[in-house]
Amino acid sequence: MRSDIQPFRMYGNLYFVGSSKVSVHIIKTEVGLVMIDTGYPDMYEQILDSMQALELDPKDICAIFHSHGHIDHFGCTLRLKELSGAKTYISRIDNDIVNGTRDLSWATELGLEREKPFDCDVLIDEGDSFTFGTTTVRCRLAPGHTEGTLAFFVNVEENGSTVVAGMHGGLGLNTLQRAWLNANGFTVAMRDAYRNSLHKLADETVDIVMGNHPGQSNTTHNLKKVLAGESILNRNAWPALLQTYEAKLDKLLADEAAQ
Ligand SMILES: [Zn+2]
Repeated sequence: MRSDIQPFRMYGNLYFVGSSKVSVHIIKTEVGLVMIDTGYPDMYEQILDSMQALELDPKDICAIFHSHGHIDHFGCTLRLKELSGAKTYISRIDNDIVNGTRDLSWATELGLEREKPFDCDVLIDEGDSFTFGTTTVRCRLAPGHTEGTLAFFVNVEENGSTVVAGMHGGLGLNTLQRAWLNANGFTVAMRDAYRNSLHKLADETVDIVMGNHPGQSNTTHNLKKVLAGESILNRNAWPALLQTYEAKLDKLLADEAAQ
């Protein structure tokens, strides 16, 4: 099954193997492939196809990180783990969603059947870092979209140059709507948490934004640049992303106030 976004090497050892619906990124390290998110449950064949096109062997996946505990980010995790033996990682907080303790995965809302509940092998806390050869995945909590949303910062290499690829792991405002918050036992304080996370992460210097969904980081635009032999390095994209989503939050609050 072909992805609607051509799989591509974004920069050095950083690859995109997701689709327009949701991102899946891979960092190739000396000790194996580090994957960030595993897409919707129906994306398994597509991810394998995209990896094959880039000559990445799924059996070489050694680690699977999850940006947060929604079904579009862990939909193929169990099958990819079974195939590769990869260790799985998620924030300690959102592990309670993937293991079924809390029914907040959005499988029901989206009418999707999820893989059976599972615990991840490694539960991430604020500031944890994980090293794979010369690659380090640095994790920071960015609550709001879920309570345990993570941001990732990874050093990637091309021809001896090291740059930082960064992901804000959950920017959607669907879980910040008043009705959804009320129905799921949250308060509007989650909006403050979301805003605080945007402010907190503004201290990062990021050369390449990895969008949690392709629309966030203009993935198709980056693909065109890569195909044209142009650089996708852009330090303005990270602060712009954070500002764009703070503006979306402001709009949500203004729209609600106007109702
Ligand atoms: Zn989500």
